[in-house]
Order: sequence, then C-alpha cells, then structure tokens
Amino acid sequence: GDHIYLQGETPKGIYFVKDLVEYIPRAYEDQRLNRKIANLEVGETVKLKAQVLKSRQFAVRGGKRKIYELLIKDETGSIICKFFRLPFKNYFNSFEPMTPVYVIGTVVNYGGRKEFHHPDLEIIKEDEDDESSNSTPRENSLVPVYSETEGLTQKKIRSLVDAAFKNLALSELDLKSEKEKLLSYDPLPEWLKTNLKLPEFKESIHNIHYPALIDKYNYHEFKTPYHYRLIFNEFFEMELLCAYKKQFRKKSESLPMSLESKRLPELKKNLPFKLTNAQSRTIDEILKDLTQSSPMHRLVQGDVGSGKTLVALCAAIYAIDNGYQVTLMAPTEILAEQHLSTAKKILEPLGIKCGLLTGSQKNKEKLEVIDRLSKDEINFCVGTHALIEDDVVFKNLGLVIIDEQHRFGVEQRQKLKNKSVIPHFLIMTATPIPRTLSMSLFGDLDVSVIDELPPGRTPIQTKQLYASQKKDLYPYIKKQIQNGRQVYIVYPLIEESETLDLKNATEEYEKIKSIFSEFKVGLLHGRVKNSEKDDIMKSFKNNELQILVSTTVIEVGVDVPNANIMVIENAERFGLSQLHQLRGRVGRGAYESYCFLVMGDAVSNLAKERIQMMVKTNNGFEISEFDLKIRGPGEFLGSKQSGLPLFKFAKIGENTNLLELARNTAFEIFEKDPELKLPENIKIKKIVENQKHKLKLSEIG
Ligand code: ADP
Ligand code: MG
Repeated sequence: GDHIYLQGETPKGIYFVKDLVEYIPRAYEDQRLNRKIANLEVGETVKLKAQVLKSRQFAVRGGKRKIYELLIKDETGSIICKFFRLPFKNYFNSFEPMTPVYVIGTVVNYGGRKEFHHPDLEIIKEDEDDESSNSTPRENSLVPVYSETEGLTQKKIRSLVDAAFKNLALSELDLKSEKEKLLSYDPLPEWLKTNLKLPEFKESIHNIHYPALIDKYNYHEFKTPYHYRLIFNEFFEMELLCAYKKQFRKKSESLPMSLESKRLPELKKNLPFKLTNAQSRTIDEILKDLTQSSPMHRLVQGDVGSGKTLVALCAAIYAIDNGYQVTLMAPTEILAEQHLSTAKKILEPLGIKCGLLTGSQKNKEKLEVIDRLSKDEINFCVGTHALIEDDVVFKNLGLVIIDEQHRFGVEQRQKLKNKSVIPHFLIMTATPIPRTLSMSLFGDLDVSVIDELPPGRTPIQTKQLYASQKKDLYPYIKKQIQNGRQVYIVYPLIEESETLDLKNATEEYEKIKSIFSEFKVGLLHGRVKNSEKDDIMKSFKNNELQILVSTTVIEVGVDVPNANIMVIENAERFGLSQLHQLRGRVGRGAYESYCFLVMGDAVSNLAKERIQMMVKTNNGFEISEFDLKIRGPGEFLGSKQSGLPLFKFAKIGENTNLLELARNTAFEIFEKDPELKLPENIKIKKIVENQKHKLKLSEIG
C-alpha cells in the first residue's frame, strides 16, 4: 500500500502511490463548454484554446515585488493571465508570441477587468488538436485540475493518477494485512459512518479524482460528500488527539485549592472601578478550575485593553491565599516591569510579597530573588525568560501565568510548567485567534473570552492618510499635547536601509524633534540598552516625554492611559494584528483617542483593503477573521513552526461546521469511553495510537 514507489517524474512531494491518490485536485473544470474569451463569466473555471500575444513583468511596491503577465487572445478577444509569483523560474520562456495554448483557470474580477490569476497553461503541440485531447473518456465531462509543477502538465498528472488507481486496484488483491491496503482500509468505524452519513474512504478518495458531472456545482465548491468525508477525517484525527490530551491531563494529580480566598474580596473592593461582567465570568471560570484535582489549562483571550492583567492578579491572590506561589511571565522587560508596578499597587497593600526576575538585572540582585523564591519569601514573582533558567527554583509553585503567550515558544512554556509538580496553567493572549484556529491550535485547552471592554472608553477613531498629507496632522498633534496628552509615532525600521524606501525611527526621530521643538521627544527601539529602555518608558509614563518615537517594541501590553494618539508610518508594512496591537496602546484612558495610519505612496490594492479594515472596525476578532481569510493560517500565525497541523484536504478557516462536528464527536467518544476499551472503539484507539508521536514526552507521561 503506502510503500509502492512511483517511477519517473512526479509532482513535488509525491513519492508513493498514497501521495498521488491524496493529491487533491485544486479545481474542477467543465470541459463540455467550448468557451470563448469574449463571453467568460467571473467565477467560472474553464479551459479554452488561445494564442500567446506577449508577456511582460513589472515591479510594484517600490521594487519589492514583481507581477508577471501573459496576454493571450482568441478570435473573440484577449485576456490577461496574471502571476504574482511564477510557478518556476523562467516559466514564461516557452510562451513565445503566437504559441497556441490551453488555459485552464478561474475567471476573476480584478479592478473591474476579467483576468485569470495563476491559471494552468499548456502548450498545444502541433500534432495535437481538440479531438485528440478529448479522446479519453474522462475529458468529456468534469475534469479535475491539479496544481502543476515544473515539467508536469495537467495531462501528465492525470495519467499518473489514472495509473495509480489501476495499480492499486491490482495490488490490493495481493496485500495481506488490512493496514497495507491503502484503499480498502477505512480508518473510521462503521457506526460513525452510519451515524454521520459519511461515504466510504475508498469511494471518497476515488471520487474526488473522478467527478460525476451531475454534481458539477458541488464539485466546483468542494462540497461533495466525498470532500466532506476526507476533510472530516483529518479534523477528526486532530480532535481525537486533543480529546486524548485533555483526558490524560484530567487523570493527572494537581494542587487542588479548596480554601476561600480572604483577600480576593478585599482586592475587588479596593479597585477604583467595577470588574466588567466578562472579567468576573472569566475569574469564576478560573477559580473553578483551581479547585479541581487536575491541573488547569486555560487560555484567556481578550482584546487589547480588556483588562486581562487584573484577571491574572485575581487568580494569583486566590492561589496565594491557598498557600502557593504564583509566577507571571511576560515577553518583554518593559511589560514585566509594568506588571510589577501594577502588582505592587494592587497586591502589596494586601500583604503579598512581589518580586521581579529579568535578564538585565544585576547578578547580585538576581541571586537574591532566586534565594527568596526558594524560601517562599516571594509570593508573586513577575519576570521574563529569566524565570525559566535552571537555577530558579520555587518552594511551592502552584500557578503559572503567561502573558501574551503568542510571544513564547511551546518549549519555553513547557519549561516553566516543569518547575512544580504540575502547577495550574493560565495563558493570556491579546491576539484574537479565530475560533476555527483556536480549536486546532489550542484544542485541548479550555478557553475564556473577555469579550467586553471596561465602560467609559470612547472607541478609538482610526484614520488613513498618505505621507503627503502629514503636514496637516502636526498642528493637530501639537494641540493635543498642549492639552496635556501624549503621542506615539511608530516606524517599521530602526535605521535607514538602502533597499527599502521606508521611514526609519532613528532618522525620523531627528525630524520629529525639530518639528516639535517645544516638546520632549524620546526614541525607543530594540537596540536601545535595557536599562535605558526602562528609563525612557518611565519618563514617557510620567509625561516627562510627550512624544515617543518607536518601533514595534511597544507593540505588546504597554499601558500609558494618558497617551491618546498613535501615528503609524508606512502602515502598509505591518501585519493586521500588529496594527491592531499598536492601536491598542491608545484608548486606555478617558480621552478621545486617535490612530493615524500613514501610507506610503505606492501601496497595493490589497494593502489598502487591509488598512480600510482597520478604519472600519476596532474589533480584534473581526480583524483576525479577515486576516486569516486573506493570508491563510500559516502566515496568519507568522511562523512555520506555529504548531499548526498540516492538512491535505481540510482548510483551516473554512469548513468550520465540519471542524465542530469532528470536535464534538471526538470529545463525546472520550467522555463515554475514556480508556477506549469498548469494542466499537477499536479503530478510534488505532487512530490515537498512530498519532501519539505528535505528543510531547511530558504529555504521554
Ligand atoms: P490588557 O487586556 O490589554 O492586558 P490591561 O490589563 O493592561 O489590558 O488593562 C487595560 C487598562 O484598563 C488598565 O489601565 C486597567 O487598569 C484598566 N482596567 C482593567 N479593568 C478595568 C475595569 N473593569 N474598569 C475600568 N478599567 C479597567
Ligand atoms: Mg496585557
């Protein structure tokens, strides 16, 4: 089964017959229609015969990116085939003017004009005419369209797929063990397929390659039962693993906290404001977890400014009143210091001893903190990565809180967790993660969402403008500063770069200083020394600096309620979630707040669309759903090692219903049969066991 090697040329990443039969078509094309360019309709996938007129390429975004175009025509008209990146180097070389080609592609509307984007182009050989390409029976109807790679045409891939299925049909007869049989083995138990009305695996994998014309529209949208079946399969495997992990954790012993907290009511009473409903609900959910005998693993998602810090402090005081130590890890020193000062204000008056551990502390200072931690003389310790050094030992760690978790790698979190038997574990993030994604990434975590901002905040007003319009902005900023407010100005780079024509913080800092000579201006970026960074932050907090010129180092968590203007230069260079985070630095106090997104002059339509999204909404979840849709999950998370499972059929961000169905089904199975001992769950157990290698050692136990 799996180990039948393919001979000769195959598309990239395809070595086994298994890979080939799972090489899912990226579109389906109705070949009965003999379409002409003049009457193409937006949205349809077609194949048509045309002739190359000319190719060209041009630079966009100030030379940063290239666009490639091939203009083709037939007797009725012409159309552009556009490529934002070429399938391979020198791809256009073979498309000389006058070359006859088949084009297979989906017609898109691009600025009011019909175009093909990334179509498949196939040169028509001289001895080949329409009749011959229509001769195989499957080409008379709905035909799968595959992603092409170098040297492999649609036709070639199709014939490889044909051969694979033929071969398999034969070889399956000879293979003895069930597992080796690629097509006749169905990983899902019968009862599940019956309940959910899912077709057989074999039938599904076959039919995605050999579509029936009658299902044309469902195929076009990947909505056949066969697609569903294969997508469900992938989601289901992932969710089974999540359910298993959670199940495993439920079995492990933790540090149950049964005492009522004496100081929590006092903490709440001392606050100058009331907790929001969302904060109270989240705190309740956390406290309930803490009373359980299995460790808490809870993710708190809350938009910037929703008040996560306070939620963390409430959880902390509860754990401390139960006799444990608590640690809070933040991704930057600025943030750690800020948390410490909040903790000092809120926790110290109640008799709780707070400490700080960061990399830039003097050794002597560090050793003293470490010593006090080991003797339980610090109840609440805030810090950065320094907390996970091996020489840091807690006497009695009961709760680990991680702020802005997306900034930490999985391993770092794990290491901190290992500092106690199995402490309770609370992670907080202000990067709103779309539900579909969080179900995949954090599928084994419990999630609380703080979906409410404290009252009395006026929504931030976001405006877009071009660099040339900035002159009008400065008098306005001056007036705001004269009224006592403060301003952030953020640039994408630290120093001038020869290749990129972008604003840079150090150079612009000088300009800003002279434009705003009557005020104090500070400069902050990643290369400023840590001790200096703190001084600058402190002066800005105390309004000794009115303007802070900065890079994205202030992206996370920085809280200066008196600052009400955020100017972001070259806004098109930033990711949406970054823009949202940066914008979240203002609108934290009672003042009307503004975010100005300054765009360079040559911005793409897509960049404009993204900026407009920022103008349109302040809702982080809406922004991240949009971001996920346009960038896809990999880029959305910003790194390949994001821990996201790789799917062949499923697309995260789509097929949400199937994902929920898979999740509910998987969790129900474990609820009814935690050890997977029932005969009906033999296959389920097999799926879990086949995937156990994906778990970390600590999770297998
Ligand atoms: P984030 O969720 O972004 O970490 P913070 O915890 O930094 O938000 O809180 C943002 C600001 O809101 C802080 O100045 C904090 O004191 C204030 N805050 C928190 N909760 C409330 C509340 N319930 N009512 C009013 N202000 C609050
Ligand atoms: Mg925060």
